[in-house]
Amino acid sequence: MLRLTELRLPLDHSEPALRAAAVARLGIADADLLDLQIFRRGYDARRKNAIQLVYTLDLALRNEATVLRRHQGDRHVGAAPDTTYRPVGHAPAGFARRPLVIGAGPCGLLATLLLAQMGFRPIILERGKVVRERTKDTWGFWRRSELHPESNVQFGEGGAGTFSDGKLYSQISDPEHHGRKVLEEFVKAGAPEEILYVSKPHIGTFRLVTMVEHMRRTIESLGGEYRFGSRVTDLLIDTAPDGARQVRGAALADGTVLESDHVVLAVGHSARDTFEMLERRGVYVEAKPFSIGVRIEHPQRMVNECRFGPAAGNKLLGAADYRLVHHCRNGRTVYSFCMCPGGRVVAAASEPGRLVTNGMSQYQRDERNANSAIVVGITPEQDFPGGPLAGIALQRQLEEAAFRAGGGNYHAPAQTVGDFLAGRPSTALGEVMPSYMPGVTPAALEDFLPDEAVAAIREALPAFDRQLRGFARGDGVMTGVETRTSSPVRVKRGEDRQSLNTRGLFPAGEGAGYAGGILSAAVDGIKTAEAVARSLLGASVPA
Ligand code: FAD
Repeated sequence: MLRLTELRLPLDHSEPALRAAAVARLGIADADLLDLQIFRRGYDARRKNAIQLVYTLDLALRNEATVLRRHQGDRHVGAAPDTTYRPVGHAPAGFARRPLVIGAGPCGLLATLLLAQMGFRPIILERGKVVRERTKDTWGFWRRSELHPESNVQFGEGGAGTFSDGKLYSQISDPEHHGRKVLEEFVKAGAPEEILYVSKPHIGTFRLVTMVEHMRRTIESLGGEYRFGSRVTDLLIDTAPDGARQVRGAALADGTVLESDHVVLAVGHSARDTFEMLERRGVYVEAKPFSIGVRIEHPQRMVNECRFGPAAGNKLLGAADYRLVHHCRNGRTVYSFCMCPGGRVVAAASEPGRLVTNGMSQYQRDERNANSAIVVGITPEQDFPGGPLAGIALQRQLEEAAFRAGGGNYHAPAQTVGDFLAGRPSTALGEVMPSYMPGVTPAALEDFLPDEAVAAIREALPAFDRQLRGFARGDGVMTGVETRTSSPVRVKRGEDRQSLNTRGLFPAGEGAGYAGGILSAAVDGIKTAEAVARSLLGASVPA
């Protein structure tokens, strides 16, 4: 296969035009092009009146070697890389050492799936419920303010990204094409095929639910085992006379003990009780930077028109997104995060008396508002000194303040952009209707955000307006608080992916501080499964 990149065609090109453009670009006869596959399709919308589609194509040619030779030195023509996934090994028949995976989010799911595919019959422990029951609990919270601390947006089968926009792109470097393996597994589980080639794939909430169920059935058919309602409250750790520590298993809240000397810890960023347990047990944990802020909502139509001009509404472009960054005078950086086109703001709390916002959408992304977190980076050194868990204490403090500001019933405190910039609390909202359920209470961001964050966001919004016209419009709505942007801790691991001071414990995914987002967490899960397999199979497996 030959790979051709950066092939540009007008947005409204006909289907045959793609083939014709590839043939012309390579200078070959049409008959010599045997097969054409779209590897990636993106767009370039910098010139709104002449938006282009930008293709990466994989082409089967009659005389590929000759064509490659002729285009030597052309950086857009080369041999297509082999992206076939090859497992690191396979458990011998009757292999009895079953690994444990804690957490059924994207990281734990992919780790479990890979371990099952390699024949290790893993056991996955999930504190929450199966995804259908979890969906009922989560909607119950959104509709009736009834929070289930073990079954919500953060906890349960599928992990934190289940009720999300389902964006499946990431900035991680991925020379071994693990991301491709994730997307292929998602397609097998029911995701639309297009996620394999569009430049910014997304799935949306409803499809994620079905996919997660499908993956469960696959894992079980391969000998893996699920245990729901299984909150890990302790780790069994042996300490040798020389101080070396080895994990021996996990204990559950109901007193059950499961033995294993290979435990993947994929608990996500909201498992605060688990981080406390790790610290108590002496597992090496350190504080790490994260970000705090608010969700902002605008009409999606405004974002579409601003980004796509006359092409707004074009099906291939879909609902427009944005990515904004501003470096403030006070040294802070404010940026948009987890932007959800045509979606809604969701109540994402997991602890009673604390309030958190986040965003989600459906596959069509056809709701009226665009939403995004607008957040400010904070660091342990500058903002929360005081030990490995100080970031969690700060998150809790902010979430409690937001809960109070919203009226103490899980309604989110909300302020219009106009009032925020004018420095007055909101008493009413404008044309942009907030989508957060169960409801909002007009308030002021100062009620729950630290002064420096408020000052930074106040400076950033007009700067964002210069990049995306209308961003600082007076009736834009901000709700809060955003605190779960990434993990406030890192459970440090070494090159072999095992905890720095506890052998057999494999911290992974977002909670351990090694991923941010569905795709990167899933890739981390695959790599961790490979490390577990290498350790279980011994030196016979190449590193
Ligand atoms: P998680 O998904 O958090 O999974 C951890 C799992 O561990 C949970 O199911 C939890 O119940 C379980 N667990 C925790 N503690 C224990 C314990 N002690 N015992 C047993 N089980 C335990 N990312 C994107 O890339 N795109 C998006 O569009 C996107 N939108 C999002 C929208 C929302 C509303 C939220 C909340 C997040 C969104 N994210 C998105 C972020 C993404 O969901 C996370 O980055 C990703 O889920 C992290 O995967 P993970 O497997 O590391 O952890």
